Amino acid sequence: MSSDNLACPSTSDLRTQPVAALDKEGIGPAMTSIPMIACSTSLSEHHSGGSGTNKNKQMVEQLQRYGVISSKKVVEVMETIDRALFVPDGTPAYVDSPMAVGYNATISAPHMHATCLQLLEENLQPGMHALDVGSGTGYLTACFATMVGPQGRAIGVEHIPELVASSIKNIEKSAAALLLKGGSLSVHAGDGREGWPEHAPYDAIHVGAAAPEIPQPLIDQLKPGGRMVIPVGKIFQDLQVVDKNLDGSVSIRSETAVRYVPLTSRDAQLKGY
Ligand code: SAH
Repeated sequence: MSSDNLACPSTSDLRTQPVAALDKEGIGPAMTSIPMIACSTSLSEHHSGGSGTNKNKQMVEQLQRYGVISSKKVVEVMETIDRALFVPDGTPAYVDSPMAVGYNATISAPHMHATCLQLLEENLQPGMHALDVGSGTGYLTACFATMVGPQGRAIGVEHIPELVASSIKNIEKSAAALLLKGGSLSVHAGDGREGWPEHAPYDAIHVGAAAPEIPQPLIDQLKPGGRMVIPVGKIFQDLQVVDKNLDGSVSIRSETAVRYVPLTSRDAQLKGY
């Protein structure tokens, strides 16, 4: 991989670009500059069908090489769900950076997707229930659905109806299409701060936007033995791992410093926060 790859641009509006994770000391990027696939290549591959799959595989291999992914299951699911199907046309798909998807939202960087999948892996076993709050492009919802399988349940909740519609189209093009058709995967328009009580309790909850504090309904909808991964904070944010113990008590730890768009109201988001 040439160092040119490091020069791939990401969009410049920081408020809509939840930039990737900082290292644990918060003093600099740990995984923000993993050289991935050169932008020009990504762009052409995005439009060239089949060979995009190879580029997706290379992206996953790179994440393994850099120690971001150690889990075989996460490798499998990230190879199965092609990221290019979830980014807007003309957006480089395989660069390790968040990308703007409209409506002041982004698709998270591949290393953040990988990190969250890995943190939730034990709670994404076949047959389990998963909730993806702020599901955006639907990428992670599709990964969750693939991991929990047709006997499980993966629910995405997103408050921008246009993103709900486009995420469903993205999923229909992906390897998770049959799960959507079969009903084990669904995406809903709604305020994710309320969770999605209909299919609670959940073994796994992922929140893709930073909450000022952990919403109580999400804690309530977590199954005993369940795990939630949620960025918490305003300017300084931590990716928190919330485990509900079998006695119903909750243990919380910080995994790493991160920067995500806020978990907020639709109005605030559309006004630019
Ligand atoms: N995991 C998604 C991340 C999208 S960015 C992906 O990688 O595609 C965060 C998303 O959270 C945005 O799509 C935004 O619209 C959504 N969001 C923010 N506040 C929300 C809320 N209160 N309820 C539901 N979705 C919300």
